Amino acid sequence: MPAIRTDAVVLHVFDYLETSRILRLATREAGVQSVLARGARRPKSRFGTALDLFASGTAEIYTKPGRELHTLAGFDVARSRGQLAGDLERFTAASAIAELAMRVATGESHAELYDALVATFDAIGASPAHASIDAGLGGAWHLLAHMGFAPVLDECASCHASIGDDAIASFSHASGGVLCPRCAQLAGNSRQLPPDAREALRAWIGGATARVADEPSRRAHQRLLREFLTEHVTDGRPLRAYDVWERNTLGVATEVAS
Ligand SMILES: [Zn+2]
Repeated sequence: MPAIRTDAVVLHVFDYLETSRILRLATREAGVQSVLARGARRPKSRFGTALDLFASGTAEIYTKPGRELHTLAGFDVARSRGQLAGDLERFTAASAIAELAMRVATGESHAELYDALVATFDAIGASPAHASIDAGLGGAWHLLAHMGFAPVLDECASCHASIGDDAIASFSHASGGVLCPRCAQLAGNSRQLPPDAREALRAWIGGATARVADEPSRRAHQRLLREFLTEHVTDGRPLRAYDVWERNTLGVATEVAS
């Protein structure tokens, strides 16, 4: 059995039989992989507390060609990211990102995607609770850009007519970006994207940060991203963690308003 040592981050954990765990790991060298951690639930497990959700470090994995489930031989944790589990807003944002990473995953090495993923978990963890939504939105668009799904924002996605920075642009999911008024009329179904929303998307796609002005704008951004994922990524299957994240945001906004 060949062994690989690779940077890895825990995206999903579930118990297996009485003493073991199965994990989904995003790795730097081998994309997303499922691994069996034998004995991980024993009190004196050699894995210690390393196998918590969103923890990252160096994994040693024994791979079996042609198999879906590999064996985790060791995991040296570098960052445990307990701050993500300790707060509902951060936790739901990080869970939505982990779900997205698993959904777009391949078994291929994609170092930039791995780095963007880990940076997103760190950004969510470092955010004041409310800003974790902005960090989650930014991370998701950055991951999508690395997967080749970045929307067109500076010219019409259909006819390539230029669209001014200060214009309210129509955004069409089916067309993969903003549309000029003429193409928007032909496309029918589109959302109106104010200049500051387009500015934020541009920053996030490039891996930069952007602050969203207020709660309604945050909810509009979450809705836009969900629709975009539904159109281009999920193949019609529901995004459960994303839905929880979005509903949680809505709940927080209602509390603030009342
Ligand atoms: Zn056009």
